[in-house]
Amino acid sequence: MTFEILETAIAKFGHAMLESEEGITEKRRVETNPNKNMARWPIGSSTLQSTAIHPKFIFLPSNVPPVHPSTVLAMSGARNLSAALRRVRVSRPRIALRPALPRTPFATVRSFSVSSPVRADKEIKYTSDAYPNVQRNPNFAELTADDVTYFKELLGSESAVIDGVTSDATDDIEPFNSDWMRKYRGHTRLVLKPKTTEEVSQVLKYCNEKKLAVVPQGGNTGLVGGSIPVFDEIVVNTSRMNNIRSFDQASGVLVADAGVILEVADLYLAERDHLFPLDLGAKGSCHIGGNVSTNAGGLRLLRYGSLHGSVLGLEAVLPDGTIVDALSTLRKNNTGYDLKQLFIGSEGTIGLITGVSIQCPPRPKAVNVAYFGLESFEQVQRAYLEAKGQLSEILSAFELMDGRSQRLVQDSTGTKQPIEGEYPFYCLIETSGSNAEHDMAKLESFLENVMGEGIVADGVLAQDETQFQALWRWREGITEALSHLGGTYKYDVSIPLSELYQLVEDCKQRLTEKGFVGDDDSFPVRAVVGYGHMGDSNLHLNVAVRKYDKEVEKAIEPWVYEWIQKRQGSISAEHGLGIAKREYIGYSQNDTMVKLMKQLKNLYDPNGIMNPYKYI
Ligand SMILES: Cc1cc2nc3c(=O)[nH]c(=O)nc-3n(C[C@H](O)[C@H](O)[C@H](O)COP(=O)(O)OP(=O)(O)OC[C@H]3O[C@@H](n4cnc5c(N)ncnc54)[C@H](O)[C@@H]3O)c2cc1C
Repeated sequence: MTFEILETAIAKFGHAMLESEEGITEKRRVETNPNKNMARWPIGSSTLQSTAIHPKFIFLPSNVPPVHPSTVLAMSGARNLSAALRRVRVSRPRIALRPALPRTPFATVRSFSVSSPVRADKEIKYTSDAYPNVQRNPNFAELTADDVTYFKELLGSESAVIDGVTSDATDDIEPFNSDWMRKYRGHTRLVLKPKTTEEVSQVLKYCNEKKLAVVPQGGNTGLVGGSIPVFDEIVVNTSRMNNIRSFDQASGVLVADAGVILEVADLYLAERDHLFPLDLGAKGSCHIGGNVSTNAGGLRLLRYGSLHGSVLGLEAVLPDGTIVDALSTLRKNNTGYDLKQLFIGSEGTIGLITGVSIQCPPRPKAVNVAYFGLESFEQVQRAYLEAKGQLSEILSAFELMDGRSQRLVQDSTGTKQPIEGEYPFYCLIETSGSNAEHDMAKLESFLENVMGEGIVADGVLAQDETQFQALWRWREGITEALSHLGGTYKYDVSIPLSELYQLVEDCKQRLTEKGFVGDDDSFPVRAVVGYGHMGDSNLHLNVAVRKYDKEVEKAIEPWVYEWIQKRQGSISAEHGLGIAKREYIGYSQNDTMVKLMKQLKNLYDPNGIMNPYKYI
């Protein structure tokens, strides 16, 4: 089985590295020999028989975050499973809408190929250098060899401690010290991977008593630098807390450890005809504890709502070691303050989430995807209104992509766009329901209307699983396409729908007027693009730069936040604040709210050891 996992990873990505389940962390490039059913480390002489390998993580090429072995398996097996669920049972529509052309499809993998925006060989600047006004808090103690001894004795397994205090572990620690965007980098010398809630409790209690600062870390896919230490904070990573605790088929309630990878949870649920009520591009790496801590939104919030609604209970550990057992599985529980809500979206600043109880809906039996070109943002809004009205309960995603973002995907993949001609805007609509014929009749009628009214200029419908995946890749592939350009300034914002795209136009105009935008290397900015979750009024404004440049940053910030504030929007729709937006909370929260947050922080974490230097 392990050998198959490696083979699958290598077939997809050229090579893979793995981290062993037990024993010291091993992250090396591996090669396989299918004839001998064997994997080996090319560096060094040891050859591993397949039975000897129990990888905990498969490390894909340096620009792709590590994934859990079951995720790699999912690339083959589970995709087929989801094919059955996602097959588009579209009888060819009577209208001019065409099926997706049989062009070269994207790789059928969705959501795994997140890669780094900056060339892997480039040094990442230390966050402490990038934010010189942030100073290390002198109240925090520095790690000693005695501390490390304590943690090693407590956590037992060698793979639970990466010790850069008493040994040189630079290479092993680096993935925990830097982020996916290669934008943030810390100086931690110790990574702890507790396995149980009790161990987390002991770790935090010790850290609190010794005044050792801590950064909780899940899959490390966050986009605002929240999971990366700024100075020498200890990283407490949840990757070994990866058990599904229970699932109740009747109620659809899943209870799982915080370190379960989102996609692993979803695959587990798929086998039981249920669905995790959250889906996002980083699902192959992010942890459900990380999702809850960031209150992640994702692709289907429109349908399944926010985690503030679907999370029924939480287990968390406070800095003093207190285990907060609020792991209720009840939908209704009106007994006082709903304290679990404080942890949802708190980004590791008041405690460490160790367990999650979540309401999961039945998996839809019929799923359809359509992809359109539109002539203006006004038409996009009209199409959205029509979709809401006509598709109502089966509408599960309404995504917006501008023309520039789609050209970038085309350039980076070499794949032709699904529809002929160029449009300033594209939308992807997904429907999910329980009755294929009923859903199809609704979708056909909707498509006839919007094409007949001239709202949509051209469009395609996925006819099979490959096309379903291929169409989604035009949306999900944007982040990766941008990543090939250099660095990206990312703004994930909520704005009233009518002005959603205006921000992109205004930002582009501003940067052009300042002489920053151009096609050759003398210009720092390569592209200003906009895309996002139209159904949630959530825009992703992305400014792709040849390299991170303080002058460009100063031209965007705080201008962009002022722009949003004037429209009563939010400067963070779903990614959180982390360190990236630590100074800007005041643009979306008034003084009273910030004061209340600080009071809560002091109440839960009087020594301030939890994720310091971030937004609170
Ligand atoms: C390609 C790509 C697509 C993405 N798409 C979306 C999207 O559509 N919607 C969206 O919302 N986000 C998206 N993200 C951002 C990111 O995936 C989410 O924020 C995700 O929820 C982070 O989970 P994680 O396990 O990686 O957390 P991490 O990055 O490890 O941590 C994020 C924050 O949570 C804290 N934290 C982590 N685990 C815990 C815990 N157990 N207890 C307490 N605090 C904890 C950390 O300290 C940090 O502040 C995307 C990222 C990528 C790379």
